[in-house]
Amino acid sequence: MLTTCSSKILYNFVPTYTAEAVENLERAGAVVIGKTNMDEFAMGSTSESSCYGIVRNPWDTEHVPGGSSGGSAAAVSAGEAICALGSDTGGSIRQPASFCGVTGFKPTYGAVSRYGLIAYASSLDQIGPIARSAADCAAVLELIRGRDPRDATSLELPTGGLLCALTGDVRGRRIGLPAECFGGALEPEVAAAVRAAAGVLRARGAVVEKCSLPLLDYAVPAYYILACAEASSNLARFDGVKYGWRAEGCGSLEELYRRTRTEGFGPEVKKRILLGTFVLSADCYDSYYKKALQARARLKAAFDAVFQRYDLLLTPVAPTTAPRLGEGLADPLSLYLSDIYTVPANLAGLPALSMPCGFDRSGLPIGAQLIGPALGDLAVLDAAHAYQQETDWHRRHPDTPATAKGGDAL
Ligand code: GLN
Repeated sequence: MLTTCSSKILYNFVPTYTAEAVENLERAGAVVIGKTNMDEFAMGSTSESSCYGIVRNPWDTEHVPGGSSGGSAAAVSAGEAICALGSDTGGSIRQPASFCGVTGFKPTYGAVSRYGLIAYASSLDQIGPIARSAADCAAVLELIRGRDPRDATSLELPTGGLLCALTGDVRGRRIGLPAECFGGALEPEVAAAVRAAAGVLRARGAVVEKCSLPLLDYAVPAYYILACAEASSNLARFDGVKYGWRAEGCGSLEELYRRTRTEGFGPEVKKRILLGTFVLSADCYDSYYKKALQARARLKAAFDAVFQRYDLLLTPVAPTTAPRLGEGLADPLSLYLSDIYTVPANLAGLPALSMPCGFDRSGLPIGAQLIGPALGDLAVLDAAHAYQQETDWHRRHPDTPATAKGGDAL
């Protein structure tokens, strides 16, 4: 089956092996019905930068589904698949799940083998499930997680089922609402829906209170420096020699590289390769790349400190609901800034989940995010499961938004 990352440069690429996560699903009897559209090389937040064309949001086809795993989220939201995989480097599972009214989970870094996943930024990338409910996400995750000798960063995890470990019991769980996540560009409707979700968890016995997550403002700049740096290195292999697009009639090797990459990559990918190459250059390394690594370490320490006092954090997934088609691309800086609530979990390697928690006045889904400490995947899923036992946002379907339809797929 073709694997293209929605890029012309891989237009004809048929891999010689299957990704470990997919193989595990197939081994358990899952039927893979297709691959989904996405932002080119997972770079984007709207699923509009694909060489195949845009993805639309099933709730309103004039709006984006989010990105970069927008095809996966749209497919689950529209009822075309009971679950899908996505990859999350800075929010690409959680943000499209939020925009499409489904549940998306980014596991602890290393929980799922990346063998067979084409790398964007290897130190941040993580595969995870998108499904209707947290319980369905747990069912998928328990099949795909665990140590794989072919991915040196994969973790030895305790065996045993995740789905059967869900209790829905959050009594006594300490949940922090970081004040820094409820200001700035956050739309009041989104803030209100996330606060209401906090109220639901409190009513089920969780101890919910305001807390502080300092350094949040450094997350987006650090993320884009590190992600682009790693991408510029990872994408160096696409050069027209071994696979994929090859420019014709080149007189020299250098011309082959230059023209293949000029013709094969789209504008967003080129921009990021240039930025990444720049921040890694000898003159800039200390002032950008090294600084970003330091910011990452500090942010991780800030999470460590906050998880001394809290079991979980509850935040919005994105400052707004799904923008109209074209709106995000017209203002790329704001689009990058809209990743503010999702990139911290990647920088710190933490498990984080997006769950539907309401609709805005135009009927577009709103998502709330739960973040846990490293290896706290079960606690995150369980809190979301508790929330979903109390609410039916995750059962709504774009065809019949006002009424609960169906149940969990499992
Ligand atoms: N929107 C972020 C970016 O463009 C995240 C993408 C992702 O998680 N793959 O880099």
